This record gives sequence, C-alpha cells and structure tokens, in this order.
Amino acid sequence: MGILKNKVAAAAIGLIAATSAAWADYPEKPVVLVVPFAAGGPSDKIARDLAEALRKPLAQTVIVDNTAGAGGTIGAARVARATPDGYTLLVHHIGMSTAPALYKKLPYKTLEDFEYLGLINEAPSTLIGKPGLAANNFADLRKWISANEGKVNIANAGVGSASHLCGLILQATLSSKMTFVPYKGTAPAMTDLMGGQVDLMCEQATNAVPQIEAKKVKVFGVTSKQRMALPSLAQSPTLAEAGLAGFEMSVWHGVYAPKGTPSAVLARLNGAIRTALKDPELIKRQEVLGVRVVTDSRLEPAEHKKYVEAEMTRWGKIIKDSGETAD
Ligand code: ASP
Repeated sequence: MGILKNKVAAAAIGLIAATSAAWADYPEKPVVLVVPFAAGGPSDKIARDLAEALRKPLAQTVIVDNTAGAGGTIGAARVARATPDGYTLLVHHIGMSTAPALYKKLPYKTLEDFEYLGLINEAPSTLIGKPGLAANNFADLRKWISANEGKVNIANAGVGSASHLCGLILQATLSSKMTFVPYKGTAPAMTDLMGGQVDLMCEQATNAVPQIEAKKVKVFGVTSKQRMALPSLAQSPTLAEAGLAGFEMSVWHGVYAPKGTPSAVLARLNGAIRTALKDPELIKRQEVLGVRVVTDSRLEPAEHKKYVEAEMTRWGKIIKDSGETAD
C-alpha cells in the first residue's frame, strides 16, 4: 500500500516536472494583452504601460489588442475562451466585478473561467463636463441637472464600465434621471464631451487630467475619499464633500489568464508583473495621472480573486438597488 502510494506520488511529481519543463522556455512568441475598451482610454493606457514594462522581465514583445464593446464583456469573453497557454491575457478593470450583477446573460463566469494574476493599479475618477456647460462648480451643476431632468446626457464606456457605474451612483444620489450614452470606451466618449455632443462623464484621472489641464473639459469633483494632490485637481472637491454623502469610488485594474493556464506559466507571469510594477518609469507615468500602482497583497493571485469577490458583493448590492440590468 505504502509503495503504491509512493509510486503514485512519484508519478505525480514526475508529471508536474515534465509539465513545468515543457513550459520552461515560455514565452517563446509575443504575448497579447487584450484590453476590452477602445484605444486611448484609461484601460488602454495602463495596458500599454504594463506591456512596455513587461518586455524586459518576459524577454518578449507584449502586444496590446483592443477588443471593445458591451462594457468590456466582449473582450473578457474572448480571453475566457482563448487557449490557456499564456499568450492571450486580459487587462480589465472594476467591470470584472460589476458585470455579473448587471448582465442577464454574461458570456463567461467571472470566478470560474479565469486565472487571477494580480491587481495592478487604482485610480480615482473625476466628474467632468463639456466646455460650454452652464455651471462652474458642483452646486451649480446640481441645480442645472435638476432643472434639465431627463435631458442631461452622460457618456459612459458601456453597461458595467467604471463610467457607467459612477453615473448610476450619481443619478441615484441626485435622484435625477439622466440619459446614458454608451461608447466603446471613454476615449471616444471624451472626444464627444470635448466637442459638446454630450454633457457629462465620469472618467478616471488617467484620461481626465490632461484634458482638465488643457481646459478642454470642466471638472466638478473627484470620486476619491480625499482631495487629490495633483495641481490640476487640488481645488476640486471630493463629491462627498460637495454634498453627495458617502460618494467614493476608485477604479482598479487587474490581469487575468484563461482558466487552465499551466501553473509554471502563471508563476512566470505573476513574477514578471511584480517586476514590471517596480519599474520607476511605469510608476512615474501612473503617478502624474493620479494613479497608484498596487504594492500590497492583492498582487497575490489568491488575494486578487478574493478582492474581486468582495467587490462583486459590494457593487452587486448597489446595482440591485439601482434596478439597472442589461441583456
Ligand atoms: N474608463 C473607461 C470606463 O469608464 C474604460 C476605458 O475606456 O478604459 O470604464
């Protein structure tokens, strides 16, 4: 019995060693990071910075591929169905945790169809408006929204995106109906906001700061708990301090691989992500846009997954209370 047990154990160890050996040279070709939003937006920006910083530790080219639409669910589904060989990965944001409560039929299972590779950053959002908007501070904006109930257009990156979520909370806290205008990402939405085709948008500091600095959009507040230290946002109140008690939202991004990716590959990728996040260039590029690179335990795959689960519970309740759903 003991011998049999030992033989089985030895065979299992041999199998693991053989599998690890088969992946020892990974990656042997370029790795693709799928971004489920349009090019030029916050998710795209972090993915491109990460791709750049991953090149050295992976000793390979890392390519960003935008598969946008339906609030990020099309790109996420693509990665869930990809071959689990470490060559197709997903960089997705808070939408990973909000989509399950919003979509009646989600084409993947958030907790079962992915390997979690670590949370990478957190960014506050800003509430911004078109340049010609007839309000210059949050108090005026609030009056303007209620005077134009139902006529105010607020852009977002599709159902379940961070901008959609922020718009939902804003609408609920102001008790004023707005018209939600979906785009494939906040980059194209920003173009329309600057052009005055839409009135408002919630956007991560990553993409909003350059436009606020260039005075191409108006800023009414930030969604963080404390005011932001960036010079262009230091005068902007938090939305909670501007009168929306409890309004707080930070948008995080994480990296995922399809379920079944070999553990040797996952370990290699997690190690490379940790190295990439220590890259001073990457840290600097994120910090000037108000983004914090994650350095805590959520870089551990198991902690990343636990965090997503906790966010699913938190946002699930807020979404259920809002009555919002999508097909
Ligand atoms: N910032 C977008 C969002 O609102 C997504 C993106 O385009 O990166 O979710």
